[in-house]
Amino acid sequence: MTFNYPKVTRSRQLGSVQEERPAWPNNARCVVAFTVDFDGTGNEVGKGLEPFGAHSAGRYSARRGVDRHLDMLERLGIPATFFVPGYDAECSPDVVKRIAAAGHEVAAHGYVHEGMLLEAEEEVRRLTLTHTILSDLLGTAPRGWRSPSGQKTSVTLPTLRSLGYQYDSSDKDADTPYMLDIGNGQHMVEIPNNTYSLDDFPFFNFSMTPVSEVVEQWKKEFDCRYAEGGFFMLTVHPRAGWGSGTPSRTRAIEETLRYIQRHGDVHFVRLIDLFEHVNQFPQSFDEVRV
Ligand SMILES: [Zn+2]
Repeated sequence: MTFNYPKVTRSRQLGSVQEERPAWPNNARCVVAFTVDFDGTGNEVGKGLEPFGAHSAGRYSARRGVDRHLDMLERLGIPATFFVPGYDAECSPDVVKRIAAAGHEVAAHGYVHEGMLLEAEEEVRRLTLTHTILSDLLGTAPRGWRSPSGQKTSVTLPTLRSLGYQYDSSDKDADTPYMLDIGNGQHMVEIPNNTYSLDDFPFFNFSMTPVSEVVEQWKKEFDCRYAEGGFFMLTVHPRAGWGSGTPSRTRAIEETLRYIQRHGDVHFVRLIDLFEHVNQFPQSFDEVRV
């Protein structure tokens, strides 16, 4: 078996902190993206579990968590990107419509939050299914995608591109966005997602870290990224259980975002806005051939 590893075809020469920072929108020192992975009952259904009783934490997203996060974002005046599995959009269409009506971006996140690689034909079917569900529901097609499991196959990106997607936010291999050459003269933008220190899941699922310490860790991460590179993306889940939909955990997110806002030279973006910027100034960013 042969593997085709991604190749870096353009890499910015990094010599100093100043050089590590590409030109950002609004001439900001640091670009900040807040992303919410809806992760409702589709997570349990995708694992073959009945989403009731001990397995009902995903239902919290639609019943409480998403609206709590929307209220928080309205208080802060921050735009966000919500990644929504197709199944969750089918179960809770009004909640997904409220996300879009508030001005936030709705992007795709699998059908039942697939945690495994699928045969090519089935993968294409599910990518297309979710795309149709979200497009029909909102009257506008999603342009961004995040793998529910972080995994991709050789058909994933070409299929997404053919459906009109312009960025992926699944990889964990860089600090800042970069161009993806996916072959046949086609490009997408990769917006890397740090699933560990800038995500609620490991803190609340593995280490059961107190919320006060989670806030301190997120602030420290921001401080370092503000100093170098200038890109900070936080990803949370509005579920109960290992998510951040519940009151004290949502307050922890708000405390983190208010801390960031106190830095005057930061610029909050939806990922589609960040795509537009990278696509407009591709020479400022690395390029990787898949
Ligand atoms: Zn997810």
